[in-house]
Amino acid sequence: VQGLMAGKKGLVLGLANNRSIAWGIAKACAQHGAEIALTWQGDALKKRVEPLAQELGAILAGHCDVTDPASIDAVFAEVEKQWGRLDFVVHAIAFSDKDELTGRYLDTTQANFNRTLDISCYSFTAIAQRAEKLMDKGGSLLTLTYFGAEKWMPHYNVMGVAKAALEASVRYMAADLGEKNIRVNAVSAGPIKTLAASGIGDFRYILKWNELNAPLRRTVTIEEVGDAAMYLLSDLSRGVTGEIHHVDSGYHIVGMKNPAAPDI
Ligand code: NAD
Repeated sequence: VQGLMAGKKGLVLGLANNRSIAWGIAKACAQHGAEIALTWQGDALKKRVEPLAQELGAILAGHCDVTDPASIDAVFAEVEKQWGRLDFVVHAIAFSDKDELTGRYLDTTQANFNRTLDISCYSFTAIAQRAEKLMDKGGSLLTLTYFGAEKWMPHYNVMGVAKAALEASVRYMAADLGEKNIRVNAVSAGPIKTLAASGIGDFRYILKWNELNAPLRRTVTIEEVGDAAMYLLSDLSRGVTGEIHHVDSGYHIVGMKNPAAPDI
């Protein structure tokens, strides 16, 4: 539907390059008429984000490192200056030390546990606190999660614990913000080869396993995640909040290996 997002202004955080899930979402929303604001983390990524912003006609909202609250404030101040309000926010940010995305969860250090939860979970709350102030007429907040929040996955470890907390925070914020007509949801995406995913041990095996065992017998693309995310950011989902929506070729319903699948 052309114009589904017409008149909507949205801030997208977590764009690293054209393989990012944030890019799939930003593209879909822009194609359907939304105005987009983008952030980057550090100078190296700025060089990648700038041409992508140009491609979408997006505005640049500045550097944002969620471990630095002043940088989050600066981004929201810029958005307020440029637009005065916001209709949606996409949080596509996660981080953990890759030395702990392998081996046992049990060996997680306190420092990396705290850092992983801070960047991958608390940051969504920190962003929602600021977004609320710019959403007088309601809005939609969206984050990205993974099935490793619900079930054990090899190597996902502390990130699975962080995603479980993130999903719980979606429900708590949905309850807090519902009376302001601000909706809070998550897309639980199937595995996709991105920069962040490359830090996860045996990621190629996980991709192949999903391809062979998911009901659709394939993995998903950032464009497919983008389209489903757009539904949650648009008025089509106006009755939906607190939801974890799986965009994973149906993998989350599977209880056992596909007997017809070859060995990997
Ligand atoms: P990506 O590497 O393209 O994006 C991750 C982003 O997080 C980057 O833009 C990075 O700059 C940002 N980030 C990390 N630490 C940050 C910090 N301190 N401050 C600000 N930004 C920071 O990878 P992606 O796979 O597109 O990841 C986006 C989201 O999707 C993540 O939450 C990830 O967990 C989630 N996800 C990914 C997959 C997958 O298989 N790729 C599956 C399900 C969910």
